Amino acid sequence: MKNSKKIAIVGGGAGGFFTALRCALVAKQKNINATITIFEASTSFLRKVRISGGGRCNVTHHIFEPRELISNYPRGQRELLSPFMQFQAQDTVNWFEKRGISLKHEADGRMFPTTNSSETIINCFLKEAEKLKITLKTKQNVKSLKQLDNQQISLYINDDKSYVADAVMIATGSAPGGYRLAKNLGHTITDLAPSLFTFKIDHPLLKEMAGTSFEKSKFELRIDGSKKAFKQEGPALITHWGLSGPAVLKLSAWAAREMKATKHKAKLIVNWTATKNNNEAEEIILKLKTNYSKSKIANALPDKITKKFWLSILDFLKIDADKQWANLSKKETLSLSNLLHQTEFDILGKSRFKEEFVECGGINLKEINFKTMQSKICPNLYFSGEVMDIDGITGGFNFQNAWTSGWIAGNNMLTPSDLS
Ligand SMILES: Cc1cc2nc3c(=O)[nH]c(=O)nc-3n(C[C@H](O)[C@H](O)[C@H](O)COP(=O)(O)OP(=O)(O)OC[C@H]3O[C@@H](n4cnc5c(N)ncnc54)[C@H](O)[C@@H]3O)c2cc1C
Repeated sequence: MKNSKKIAIVGGGAGGFFTALRCALVAKQKNINATITIFEASTSFLRKVRISGGGRCNVTHHIFEPRELISNYPRGQRELLSPFMQFQAQDTVNWFEKRGISLKHEADGRMFPTTNSSETIINCFLKEAEKLKITLKTKQNVKSLKQLDNQQISLYINDDKSYVADAVMIATGSAPGGYRLAKNLGHTITDLAPSLFTFKIDHPLLKEMAGTSFEKSKFELRIDGSKKAFKQEGPALITHWGLSGPAVLKLSAWAAREMKATKHKAKLIVNWTATKNNNEAEEIILKLKTNYSKSKIANALPDKITKKFWLSILDFLKIDADKQWANLSKKETLSLSNLLHQTEFDILGKSRFKEEFVECGGINLKEINFKTMQSKICPNLYFSGEVMDIDGITGGFNFQNAWTSGWIAGNNMLTPSDLS
């Protein structure tokens, strides 16, 4: 056995476990005598993995091309390209496959264990950790870190313990204490803001429409003081408190910082049937008027919207739903097409998305070497997962960031390179 190494992982979540497992395997393969310990503040490991994806764990996304994969990260896009060249979604699938766990993908690309249970992932990690003799410790709140003269790092745990390690991983997710650990060692933390939230809207058109979904609508977010245009096309859902669904969540992620600046107030323009322009929307209405002139307006409606929502539109515009299409006035035609093409809503605030929530912001990416995940400021210190200023849109991308950064750090923590 070669010289002995002590590796400390702060945080027993996705990034922490993946780092520990990879590091232990590398140690075994290289015949390095390593003691790898995960220090977890809470009473259990992998809490977010357990509740993720509605208890099914959306492990990754079915995009196996690194350049395409990075386009799903509002923050960290550029920096993740080289890490994804080392370990990407296909490698995640292979990693689990090798350990007897198959992942399946759904029509929208999200990948889950075929068991549809996050326990499958947790059990796999715990079993692997046992096999590789990783020391697992709960109720170990790492309160501070100190770089020693010999470049080892001392961990101060709870209020009465310390531990000296050759290399330390900070994988504390979005816990404020984790950011503090990094800050105290000289790192900067970028502006923190919630991401992946739904929009609170109070509008008569949406009243009693909860559950109504749209397959492919277009959305534009206009935020005071922001020159950036935020646009998305995709599925959406009316909820009891406003609007949700993949397109809305993506908008919230891309505009996370700008929305925080306005206390999550903005204007949202919705193009319900994804028409190219107002004329196309008007043509839809005129076609209905011609083809269904004898039918009640209530009974012949544009494709892609539900009858319930159509009735709500008519009610909102005060158009008599029982009259015949032939009797629709020019003014009514215009107001209908205008509403279909661009309904304007005031977003009053954010609501939490029940299935996924991430923090935008974290350790400044300029301070991390993405070839190794080592800090450029503090030797022998590494980062993985959400503690970095990286976040993805909904769909498994946030875990993929944790797996990739953990895997790379695990490869490098036993033999740290120079700071660069
Ligand atoms: C409800 C919910 C559902 C989600 N679903 C999905 C999904 O399906 N797919 C997806 O890709 N992403 C999902 N996410 C996001 C995903 O869970 C996170 O991006 C991911 O868990 C980040 O991993 P991490 O290791 O960085 O942090 P975490 O998984 O949060 O782990 C950090 C760990 O560090 C511990 N810790 C913190 N501070 C200290 C300290 N000082 N000392 C010791 N330990 C400490 C914490 O207790 C925690 O266990 C979801 C998030 C939520 C909240």
